[in-house]
Amino acid sequence: MISLGIEGTAWNLSVGVVNEEEVILLESDPYKPETGGIHPREAAQHHSERIGPLLKKVFLKLKEKNLDIDVIAFSQGPGMGPCLRVVATAARVLALKLKKPLVGVNHCLAHVEVGRWVCKVKNPVTLYVSGGNSQIIARKRNYRVFGETLDIGVGNAIDKLARYMGLKHPGGPRIEKLAKRGSKYYELPYVVKGMDFSFSGLVTAAKKLYSSGVSKEDVAFSFQETAFAMLVEVTERALAYLDLNDVLIAGGVGANSRLREMLSIMCDDRGAKLHAPPKELLGDNGAMIAYTGLLMYKHGYETKIEDSAVKPDFRIEEVEVNWK
Ligand code: AMP
Ligand code: MG
Repeated sequence: MISLGIEGTAWNLSVGVVNEEEVILLESDPYKPETGGIHPREAAQHHSERIGPLLKKVFLKLKEKNLDIDVIAFSQGPGMGPCLRVVATAARVLALKLKKPLVGVNHCLAHVEVGRWVCKVKNPVTLYVSGGNSQIIARKRNYRVFGETLDIGVGNAIDKLARYMGLKHPGGPRIEKLAKRGSKYYELPYVVKGMDFSFSGLVTAAKKLYSSGVSKEDVAFSFQETAFAMLVEVTERALAYLDLNDVLIAGGVGANSRLREMLSIMCDDRGAKLHAPPKELLGDNGAMIAYTGLLMYKHGYETKIEDSAVKPDFRIEEVEVNWK
């Protein structure tokens, strides 16, 4: 069985094709803002201009490979409303035109499932860290969020600080590079409340630190150490509480080598194992939507056209999970 998935909840417009064993195709056309961060309407405009050519490219490649699609999957939410609507419209058109079933996929669930698939890990605690989301997820019958940000995602926090220091979007890799050259740690607000955490106060304090004359390198270093320690603390608590021994990283911020180092120190201490999918499957991508759509379809899920409206606030807990 072959599934085509379309992702476009925010910056990355991406189409993936998978079968049960592997990713067959992954083609992306990301939105890159000239200045500032991601503007929902501009991102949606980008997606609507590029989705046609992108799909054409994918279908030409499928023709060369002599492959037919069995299922059309799309990211139904959570995400930016205008972006989601472009993706859902394209998916509906394909499903109707090709007379194939449609599956609306929860974006966060897709991050978790593609990681479980490629890392071959059964029951991990997932640290999902992206631009818009930061959650610690594990499965108890359905998936549950055991801890999450009370305000902005950690990627968004990093990008805000980066922009303030005059760096281009996305700030993550640039902040990581600067932090490697930082040496002095300045204390910043460490906010963990129960299993939840918050980043906006940290961003404000880090901006102030930079304005007071501290170098970009030391601000980036102090910011990363503080933010990542918060995430690692809560991930460790989830492991202990659930008595689990695997951590799965998901989301674009998961590419950060310092975050991975801190997580692996924590995992080593507990005798747990750290898993991370390859970079192209870590951040937002169409293959994770295609794979999760395939998994869901095989387990009896299908989204009727009349139920395919986008869900900008779609929570992972809302998905009834009936697969192992
Ligand atoms: P996603 O929404 O999952 O695709 O992730 C996008 C976010 O990941 C953006 O906020 C980026 O700044 C962030 N990001 C990408 N690479 C890195 C990195 N090496 N370190 C920290 N953040 C990163
Ligand atoms: Mg994401």
